[in-house]
Amino acid sequence: MTIHNNFIAGEWLAGRSSADNVNPSDLSDVVGNYTLAGQDAVEQATDAASAAFEGWARVSPEVRADALDKIGTEILARREELGALLSREEGKILADGIGEVIRAGRVFKFFAAEALRLNGEKVTSVRPGVEVEVTREPEGVVGIITPWNFPIAIPAWKIAPALAYGNTVVFKPAGIVPASAWALADIISRAGLPEGVFNLVMGSGSEIGGAIVASPKVRAVTFTGSVATGRRIALDCVRTGKKVQLELGGKNPLIVLDDADLDVAVSVAVNGAYFATGQRCTASSRLIVQNGIHDRFVAAVIDRIGHLKIGHALDPGSEIGPVVSSDQLEQDISYIEVGKNGGAHLALGGEKLKRDRDGYYMSPALFTETTNDMRINREEIFGPVASVIRASTYEEAVQIANDTPFGLSSGICTTSLKYAHDFKRRSAAGMVMVNVPTAGVDYHVAFGGRKESSYGPREQGAYAREFYTVIKTAYTLP
Ligand code: NAP
Ligand code: MG
Repeated sequence: MTIHNNFIAGEWLAGRSSADNVNPSDLSDVVGNYTLAGQDAVEQATDAASAAFEGWARVSPEVRADALDKIGTEILARREELGALLSREEGKILADGIGEVIRAGRVFKFFAAEALRLNGEKVTSVRPGVEVEVTREPEGVVGIITPWNFPIAIPAWKIAPALAYGNTVVFKPAGIVPASAWALADIISRAGLPEGVFNLVMGSGSEIGGAIVASPKVRAVTFTGSVATGRRIALDCVRTGKKVQLELGGKNPLIVLDDADLDVAVSVAVNGAYFATGQRCTASSRLIVQNGIHDRFVAAVIDRIGHLKIGHALDPGSEIGPVVSSDQLEQDISYIEVGKNGGAHLALGGEKLKRDRDGYYMSPALFTETTNDMRINREEIFGPVASVIRASTYEEAVQIANDTPFGLSSGICTTSLKYAHDFKRRSAAGMVMVNVPTAGVDYHVAFGGRKESSYGPREQGAYAREFYTVIKTAYTLP
């Protein structure tokens, strides 16, 4: 079998060993074999990125725009094939795999245009005759470390702005989803970038990720993943004087008020909690339901999830694919026990499922009669597991929604303009959804959370420039 190599300094290079990428829908299906580099590869990549920086920073923004546009065009043209590859390695259903690829393509197109929009300010000086300019410049070498749950979209929304604003990149994807990352690198490698501008280094998280964070040549690190890893990276970045951006976990609340449209609330809850196997940092995992609608809502959700088709990600009938890995499946199942032992009522699901092909299948689980202090409502599970918490009033619901260490996204289902408006103001989350799932976001606006969910500037949209550029203030006496 061909080994897919790393892309460093414009060349495809083998690492020390390699690993099989296995399909979680069918463990007998090997998606491909991918190289695993050692720390020497990180040194080569950071050297190359550092050497390429000055040239790339100075090139006309039109050159950067054209390259990003070309990348976006190829991604969009290959959406079906890349979507199938993504679904095969990660386990989200094909429609979601294709949707994610489209998002990645659109992100490159968006930042192609943004490359031409980088502007500054001219300010009147307090000193007569002096001119003041405030401009933005690229940071330098950016280290990019991504998780497995969005194997192409998250790399895209970090790589595209990094390159658009004139930075060079060393990219380390999550170990269990190298295929989408490699395919993206292959597309980028043919976009006409000078050698060293973009580098892909696959290998172990602690070793390769750790070496990127430690490298004196890396100026800024952007990371999406777990809180524990993110915290460690942030400390190391501070220690070595780097800019850092973290997007971490969530325990996202969805409030359902008595005046909600029941059908809307059920579909928003089921989509937010269970689609993509619940493996979204923005998934709704705490369903905070007012007493008057509680029983009807719970009955309808149970009915809906009982009919969801769980199966192979590429089977057109599947609505939910498998869990991504055996470790994640064991974690999800262990939280079913944590919930039961903590006094929650398991209304449905939470079991491993058998399908024709051996894979990491699990039935969507709903806990009811839970309280917000239970572990299942404090800790991120990152699987198809949600719990219902009762609230008697809107005020109590808001208090429960905000009572969490996280603050990524939040939602409310209501037909009241008054409550919708109030909740948008008072939610302690970075993103607030009214009558739409907590898990769906646009690609051209700011994305990010508060409290333990995020650290540093927002990602995506024009806001991305905060992280990928640094301000310069220049004074001139003509
Ligand atoms: P993870 O274990 O923290 O891994 C994330 C990335 O960090 C992977 O590429 C991993 O490499 C690497 N890594 C691991 N240890 C490292 C170290 N010591 N130094 C540097 N890098 C290291 O997270 P995950 O399990 O892939 O992703 C799930 C988590 O991501 C969830 O908590 C979820 O909420 C969060 N997430 C957040 C967002 C958001 O935008 N807020 C979006 C998606 C996911 P290996 O894969 O090789 O270990
Ligand atoms: Mg895989």
